[in-house]
Amino acid sequence: MIDVCNIQVMKPLLEAHGFHFSKAKGQNFLIARWVPEEIARQSGVDQTVGVLEIGPGIGPLTQQLCLNAKKVCAVELDKRLQPILKTTVGEFENLQIIWDDVLKQDVKKLVAEQFSGLRPMACANLPYYITSPILTALLEAECFQAVTVMVQKEVAQRIAAKPGTADYSAFTVFCQYYAEPEILFDVPAHCFLPQPKVTSAVVTLRTRKELPWEIHSKEIFFRTVRASFAMRRKKLTNGLASGFPELGKAGAEDVIRSCGLSENVRGETLDIGQFAAIANEIHRRRK
Ligand code: SAM
Repeated sequence: MIDVCNIQVMKPLLEAHGFHFSKAKGQNFLIARWVPEEIARQSGVDQTVGVLEIGPGIGPLTQQLCLNAKKVCAVELDKRLQPILKTTVGEFENLQIIWDDVLKQDVKKLVAEQFSGLRPMACANLPYYITSPILTALLEAECFQAVTVMVQKEVAQRIAAKPGTADYSAFTVFCQYYAEPEILFDVPAHCFLPQPKVTSAVVTLRTRKELPWEIHSKEIFFRTVRASFAMRRKKLTNGLASGFPELGKAGAEDVIRSCGLSENVRGETLDIGQFAAIANEIHRRRK
């Protein structure tokens, strides 16, 4: 197997194919072999698993996934990588590559077609310019047991944040609604070529089999969350009154009080159970 993380191997390989990195496609390739090895190991991929990989690049993580998983399906946008991937991962019979934009895929359908009888997981060193839309698509597909991704460290901290902290955001609540996140390890910039300006981190999101909260309307729940964070320095009353104009300020205060919360509370301090209670109360009043 070609050691694609070895710079002495990688540089001539890229040069032989006249390949130049595309900043627009978020191309920062791994040059430290321990990183893909650890991602594959800590993601829990084994012979019962089918893995969707996003953005294989020249294949460092793909190799590790192919060695450990029953099946790997990788989606790559940049067709210039075709001949290189043929050299680096062409030997694996359990790999299928789809040459397309991952955001154009029907993820649920793809998983059903590719991974019948297997435990589906997703793994990736993500192109950072589309971290949020990709994670949104992977979690909303509700078909993976776990999603393990490398992202910017500050994004990982936002995904795993606790209520009341500066990192806690609407995106935190979105991720934690679907999954329980855990930051696995940091990856310094010198592990990539070219080096990104930021530190990265690998985070795993173990998806929930059942929601621990009763939520009467998913749409109103997420509207409540967005409204609560839209004015994060202000009181929750203002955010709710603006996100649900039909409530008015007095109605918003009343909703908050009926959930046993102070009308001075700020949205960024609420946990998901408290957002659920507020959303359910709004839903009840709209009926
Ligand atoms: N997995 C490789 C590694 O770790 O060295 C490459 C990771 S690089 C950060 C991101 C990869 O995602 C690149 O190969 C890039 O071409 C690919 N990519 C960018 N946008 C994409 C998209 N919309 N759909 C699929 N792949 C994409």
